[in-house]
Amino acid sequence: MAELLTENLGVNAEGHLTIGGADTLSLAAEYGTPLYVMDEQEIRKNLRRFHESIDKHYGGRGLVCYAGKAFTCLEMCRIVASEGDGLDAVSMGELYTAVKAGFPMEKVGFHGNNKTDEELHYAIEHGVGHIIVDNLSELRRLEAIAAEMGAVPHIMLRIKPGIDAHTHQFIMTGQIDSKFGFALETGEAFEAVKESISCENVKLVGVHCHIGSQIFDISPFEAAAGVMLDFIAKVRDELGYEIPGLNLGGGFGIKYLSTDDPKPLEAYMERVSAVVKEKCSEHGLAQPYIYLEPGRSVAASAGITLYTVGARKEIPGIRTYISVDGGMTDNPRYILYQSEYEAVAAARAGEERTEKVTIAGRCCESGDLIGENMPIQHVDSGDIIAVLATGAYNYSMSSNYNRVMKPAVVFVNNAEARLGVRRETPEDIIRNDV
Ligand SMILES: *Cc1c(COP(=O)(O)O)cnc(C)c1O
Repeated sequence: MAELLTENLGVNAEGHLTIGGADTLSLAAEYGTPLYVMDEQEIRKNLRRFHESIDKHYGGRGLVCYAGKAFTCLEMCRIVASEGDGLDAVSMGELYTAVKAGFPMEKVGFHGNNKTDEELHYAIEHGVGHIIVDNLSELRRLEAIAAEMGAVPHIMLRIKPGIDAHTHQFIMTGQIDSKFGFALETGEAFEAVKESISCENVKLVGVHCHIGSQIFDISPFEAAAGVMLDFIAKVRDELGYEIPGLNLGGGFGIKYLSTDDPKPLEAYMERVSAVVKEKCSEHGLAQPYIYLEPGRSVAASAGITLYTVGARKEIPGIRTYISVDGGMTDNPRYILYQSEYEAVAAARAGEERTEKVTIAGRCCESGDLIGENMPIQHVDSGDIIAVLATGAYNYSMSSNYNRVMKPAVVFVNNAEARLGVRRETPEDIIRNDV
């Protein structure tokens, strides 16, 4: 029997693939394809892996702020809120979604390297917990907007800690080239702190770093925490201001392929909190309140995408193409990064994957593939296939290219299914046309 990627996937008595206990063929029949399916229990389990490890290893002095850019909608906000976790938003659209979901806005962090005045105003008006300031022009605009509103929003500064995280190793870079944040080694970050604490209408409550994404190793995170605490100590020593919060970002790797071997999510906070405690005692600092911002590692394993196979094209001696009723419009990760996925024939999920196929989307781009040389059971026209671990950065990066309508999102919870986002209709496609 073929190995399934994650524990929330299974095979029922009929041999059909299940997610969260729900039969994927029944979901496809009821809701149509392409279809995003999100397993609520898996989302909750992933969030708990983070917040319970903060409880266990750091006395609960921290907040998990789920990075909504990985996947969000009203129902996702409600689930995250019901776990007691926070949220990261990066745009008016994400902030608005949180507001409309009734999300506790004091647990929301507002990110972005080019926030508009309108967005900053909206964030303050709705009592966002902290705004992560990316650059000095933003700091000055925010100070002016806050003064006008008679508010004192809490801010963090986004710092480039000089750590370049690769999948399996890390290097300390002398020179960092990134559009995000203030550089440490040029003194830019220190100047930004100085200016922030002199502002009357913002309150500096933390420093933030985010070193990358899909990182399997914990050592770059440990290194980043160390660098950030050294910086907090330097600020305390030279400016007499002790920054109370440390935001360590997200980026924890997940299993896209059976051969991927990320560290268990629990291990992250265990090791990082040890570094934080050690550094604090070395510098005589109070242990900061910690923020974590996992996105992919919360949503990816919770999601699969179901497609119906259209044509099967065998090009002798070259490859077999399987075309599906979705593609880069619902999963742009292959065309963006040549990312890899596993696929399963939903009706024969327990059988060996005996073929290798290229799964192609329906858009007018040759690069519109879900993947190449993907092992799968024999599939033909009309079969349903599932692409696994698509819960993060698929729906949120989906588009209407070719005026393709976006699929529905269905949540399953202990075998019960409910609609989370309706499938788009042709009417939606022309909604804003005049
Ligand atoms: C993208 C991002 C995250 C989430 O990253 P994942 O790799 O999805 O965990 C967290 N924080 C910031 C600032 C980000 O830009």
